Formats: sequence, C-alpha cells, structure tokens
Amino acid sequence: MIFTNVAAAPADPILGLTEAFKKDPREDKVNLGVGVYKTDAGLTPVLKSVKLAEEKLLQEETSKNYLGIEGVQLYNKVVQELLFGANSSIISEGRAFTAQAPGGTGSLRVAAEFLVNNTESKVIWVSNPTWANHKNIFEAAGLTIKEYRYYDAATQGLDFEAMLGDLAQAEQGDLVLLHGCCHNPSGIDPVTEQWQAIAELVAAKQLVPLFDFAYQGFGDGVEEDAAGLRTVAAAVPEFLVANSFSKNFGLYNERIGAVTLVAKDQAEGEKAFSQVKRTIRANYSNPPAHGALIVSTILSTPELKAIWENEVKEMRERIAKMRLLFVKTLAAEGVEQDFSFISGQKGMFSFSGLNKQQVEQLKTEFGIYIVGSGRISVAGMTTSNVPVICQAIAKVL
Ligand code: PMP
Repeated sequence: MIFTNVAAAPADPILGLTEAFKKDPREDKVNLGVGVYKTDAGLTPVLKSVKLAEEKLLQEETSKNYLGIEGVQLYNKVVQELLFGANSSIISEGRAFTAQAPGGTGSLRVAAEFLVNNTESKVIWVSNPTWANHKNIFEAAGLTIKEYRYYDAATQGLDFEAMLGDLAQAEQGDLVLLHGCCHNPSGIDPVTEQWQAIAELVAAKQLVPLFDFAYQGFGDGVEEDAAGLRTVAAAVPEFLVANSFSKNFGLYNERIGAVTLVAKDQAEGEKAFSQVKRTIRANYSNPPAHGALIVSTILSTPELKAIWENEVKEMRERIAKMRLLFVKTLAAEGVEQDFSFISGQKGMFSFSGLNKQQVEQLKTEFGIYIVGSGRISVAGMTTSNVPVICQAIAKVL
C-alpha cells in the first residue's frame, strides 16, 4: 500500500482559510483572507472589457488548434509593452523574450525551474515577509531561499536600511525577488529614490532580479506602477519578470500570466529562452489560449483598452476609499491604536498588526476571516461590511 504512509499536507494558509469560510454558516461572515477584488456589492464580476473581448472572440475565433510553446504571439508582444513601455529600448533591441504561462504562479515556477536547471543562480532572496506561496514554488523548483528584511513592525513601514544591508550580503549571481508594486502582504512599496538605490546595489553586486508583478494598476496607475521595474531594468543587463493578469483583468480562473526573460543581447536571449521553452514543454507542453486571447484583444484594441484602463482605475480607487473608511470607522468605534498607516498603503493588502490570537478570535467569535499573519485583504471590504469588521476589531483589541 503506497499511500498508507503519506502524511496529510497542512492546510494552505490562505486557500485553507477560504475553505473554512465557505463552511461557516453565519450570514454576516466576511472573507478578508484571499486576495480577490470585490465590488461594493461584494461581488467579483467579469470586467466589461473582458466580456466585450469574449464576444469578439466568439465571433472571430476559428480554431482550437494547439498554441506554440510560448503561447499567443500578440499576447507576448502586448505584455512586453505593458511591462517596459511601448517605446522601450529593451523591446527594440530584441533583448526581451516572453512566454505566456498559467498565472503568476505558473510564471514564477517556470522561471525558477529554468534558472535552477540552466544557470549558476541557485539562491533566491525574498522579502520577509512575502506571499506565502513564494517559498513553496521556489523550494519545489529546487532554489535555496534566503530572506532580506523588509517590513518594520515598529514603524509599520519599510526597513530600507535593513533591506539593503541584507542584500549587500548576497553573492554575485544570486536571485533577488522584487515585488513590482503593491507588496504582498505588507502593502508597502519602495519610493522612487529607494528603487534607484535598489537598482544600484543589484547592479553593483551583479545580482539577478526576478520581478513578481501581480498587481500592475492597483497601486498608482498602470504606467506608474511599472516605474520600479523600469528603474531596475535600466541598470542591469539581465533579469526576469513573472507577471499576472489574475487581478488587474479579474481573470483569476483563466490562469493567465507570463514569464519574460531579458538578456544582455538578442543572441544570448534566444539561447536562454530556448531553455525556458524546454521547461514549459516538460511541464504542460503549451498554454491554454482563452485568457491570453482576452488580454491581447483588449490591449491591442484602443476602445477596449480604454474601457479596461477605466475599470482598473475604478478598482484601484475603490480600494483606496475602503482604506480611508476603515481607518475612519475604527477611530469612530473608539479604537485608540493608530491605524492611519493603512490608508497610505498600496494594493489589495495591508498588515493590520493584529496578532494570531486576535485573528483567531475574529474568526471564531465574529466570522471575520483574516490570514494568521494579520494580513487583511482590503479589496474584500465594502461600505456595508466595514462597520461590522471595525466593531469586531474594537472588541478583540
Ligand atoms: N504573486 C503575488 C505577490 C501574488 O499575490 C499572487 C496572487 N495572490 C501571485 C503572484 C499569483 O497570482 P496567480 O493567481 O496569477 O497565480
């Protein structure tokens, strides 16, 4: 019996929470665990731009034949333009190579496996804290994980000196995972000068950045959010990007992202990219088409692109509004602890500072689900659930 001695895996800290939430019979329960955008009505609808693109595809799609290993060509082009800007020299010099991949997760996994099997880079530095799945993905691919300090609990801000100090310990060729924007879980991003300093350090030490870019458009804007990536990109000869359209196109279950490799020149990039494709071939052969066709249709059709940009803006602004409402309502509930830092943070998440016991109490007594680290998905807040959440927090503090 080969399964008898298989130990049960521990529940995933985030997806396990959603399972528990679904089983909870209470009607006023709130899920602030998983990072999924909700409208003020608490729904996660299909974007209008996506529906319009799908209608167009239904009319025009002529075949379900296999895609190439790297996916939809037009998609890979529009991804590069979104990442680096349409006039980027990285694109015009032919240094960038993109393969469509299943979500940000699949993109990170392909990147990691390619690196482990084909390069000297076997160590990856990740921020402390980082998205819980980073460690799973990188360890499964065979990378060794080291951490650089990032979040300063005392100031609820970025411990930038500690971050640079730790990265200064990295060795030539080590990988550095950088969150392009909207750091998950802290909601804290480096500012312009800090990105510049990161770029200088990474270049001087000849480290290799791997960008995780899962929230483009959720911070300050679609173009604005790429500033950190572009600053670092201008300073180093080679790097990788794993991006995702789960959040900014609401295409969670289509599993659509991309892995982009940038090399010092086109010839070297072509060689390296052939190994990225080999990695994909051995994993899932070639990607599914639908998500990529939606994104490429939207981004290459000016009217649809304009609708999408407006929808991203709406999502971004609603989250920012919820941040302010949350801080204001906590104060109105008589909470003395200062939560104002939450209103300035970026993206879907914030570190609330709530401890494990308080998080547990919120779940058992009030049906409010938050990740054990105290990470809150602000994107799950609505004008009607914020008062419920704040009253409960006031009671557990
Ligand atoms: N990176 C980060 C930082 C994320 O938060 C997420 C999604 N939670 C991902 C990558 C993966 O996204 P996807 O669902 O596209 O795999």
